Amino acid sequence: MRICVYCASSEKCDEVYHAAARRLGGLLAAARCTIVYGGGAVGLMGSLADGALAEGGRVVGIIPRFMTEVEWQHPGLASLEVVEDMRERKHRLLTGSDAVVALPGGCGTLEELFEAITLKRLGLYFNPIVLLNTRGFYTPLQTFLRQVIEQRFMNPEHAAMWSLVDAPEQVLPAIRTTPRWREDARDYAVVR
Ligand code: AMP
Repeated sequence: MRICVYCASSEKCDEVYHAAARRLGGLLAAARCTIVYGGGAVGLMGSLADGALAEGGRVVGIIPRFMTEVEWQHPGLASLEVVEDMRERKHRLLTGSDAVVALPGGCGTLEELFEAITLKRLGLYFNPIVLLNTRGFYTPLQTFLRQVIEQRFMNPEHAAMWSLVDAPEQVLPAIRTTPRWREDARDYAVVR
């Protein structure tokens, strides 16, 4: 499986988030999954890649050229694909992935996550999207998204587009038990 992971560049977030990122990297590597991520060496991205590489995992980074010019890329990756811009990176991260996992993060992570959810809503992506809810990080977002549905900006069916898990050990089981998204997604993409 090729798992696309979105996660923070922050170096300053709590160690509990780094530990979860390292652990997830190790677990995905042990399960022979290929990790595709933003290619960074910093923050949770670095911890994820370090955790996977320590277990002999295959980690693919996809990074825009301007970031390599300032040497933000992780030096130990099996493969680093350099693309022209952020849009191409986002497209390449998601395309061909069997699942998306979002770890805690800032606007970059949230943007990537919301693009994946939006494409799923429109029937352009069909695979599981799992949010690692370390220390309840994503609980306020889940509450907010419930409000989005209650206020009729999205349909109730859309709540099944993503799921939250508390621990890295639950990520792969969640991916394996999430059914493929419905082929008729476009029939209820719009709230009528
Ligand atoms: P953020 O959550 O705002 O820290 O942004 C992290 C996400 O944006 C990652 O999944 C990357 O795809 C991208 N990104 C942001 N900053 C960097 C960086 N310094 N190196 C590599 N990717 C980055």
